[in-house]
Amino acid sequence: MALLDDYEKFVGPEVVYELELYASKLSGVIVKNINSTKVGGGVAEILTRMIPILKELRVNAHWDVIKGDDRFFEVTKKMHNALHGQNMKFTQEEIDIYLDTNERNADQMELNGDILFIHDPQPCALIRRKKKGEQKWIWRCHIDFSNPDPFTWNFLKEYIEQYDLSIFSAPSFARELNIPQVLISPSIDPLSDKNKDLPQETIDSVLERFNIDKKRPIVTQISRFDYLKDPVGVVKVYHRIRKYIDCQLVLAGGGATDDTEGAKVLSEVEEITANDPDIFLLLLPPSSDMEINALQRASTVILQKSLKEGFGLTVAEALWKSKPVIAGAVGGIPLQIAHKYSGLLTHSLDGTAFALKQLLQNPSYAKMLGENGHNHIRKNFLITRHIRDYLLLFLSLLHKKEDIVYL
Ligand code: UDP
Repeated sequence: MALLDDYEKFVGPEVVYELELYASKLSGVIVKNINSTKVGGGVAEILTRMIPILKELRVNAHWDVIKGDDRFFEVTKKMHNALHGQNMKFTQEEIDIYLDTNERNADQMELNGDILFIHDPQPCALIRRKKKGEQKWIWRCHIDFSNPDPFTWNFLKEYIEQYDLSIFSAPSFARELNIPQVLISPSIDPLSDKNKDLPQETIDSVLERFNIDKKRPIVTQISRFDYLKDPVGVVKVYHRIRKYIDCQLVLAGGGATDDTEGAKVLSEVEEITANDPDIFLLLLPPSSDMEINALQRASTVILQKSLKEGFGLTVAEALWKSKPVIAGAVGGIPLQIAHKYSGLLTHSLDGTAFALKQLLQNPSYAKMLGENGHNHIRKNFLITRHIRDYLLLFLSLLHKKEDIVYL
């Protein structure tokens, strides 16, 4: 198959053959994905790449996005923060906004198909339209569920438990639920504009466009401007090490349509970075995959100083480019980084500053971490592994045991 064959050079022909074999048992099966944004953030990133591959495999995959007004996305952002551990109280009005918006979307969408694949909390209450019958509903959680606010968790749990199955990204997110839970980690696509190899001229031209000096070290964090990505902490780390080492800081990130807090976080970052010619705050439009790829490839060290993280695709993207990464030891990040082997995990501002100084001063150590990281991503976090996990899951949900092929 045209598109799939191109993955052989990364994973070998057996993996592609295996995908074709599983998919042949699912030919014509309709899988409808529903999330809350077409652009920005990891879920949209994955679906954009995965849907065409599933289609090529003749799985009838679709992707719809729920619609909501600002109030709805303010409520779901609050819910998102609460599920990440912040103590929040919801008014009855907010709960009504959440449920009514889900209800309106259910009226407007065709909730048909063999598998309804619902992503994250925003559209979770669509489950109220589940009918008795063959249709299977999956709830796929992409966020860090290690310590959710109890009220919000109990509210959402009532809906989650109506699904046939739930998927989480890391073992630490497993919760007490009366439905099966499956662990499937996200992935990156080595052939996407975000991750494919780039000629040096393209990388240089992106640096030139943003006036970044390619001769001096570049420290980068790519992320939405979100408190949980701690961009303010990144600037503080930079201020600490800048006294000793000449380097530049790039903070690049656009918004997501379901993230209403971005502007506020950005203005806080602007305040503490004003007038520093070596700090580049880049507000990128949604179609900036090539630019992000180039910035990651041009970087000396990549940071992902998250305070909470479902998985952290940006970590996988950086490691794929063999870059040394320093990241918060939270959520799904430790699945990607074995400390001092495929990157450095940190727990504090001081720790991150120390690690950054160490990597900027020790390029051969930094190189070794990046190379190990690349291999780890190749073996575990490419999109082919992710699709394999999903195909096997669909088979186990839809077919009788005797139809399943064991290799
Ligand atoms: N991203 C992007 N543009 C931006 C910021 C981020 O395309 O301005 C991408 C980033 O490269 C990654 C995804 O969005 O592929 C973010 O996924 P991640 O899991 O790191 O975090 P999330 O935003 O889902 O919390």
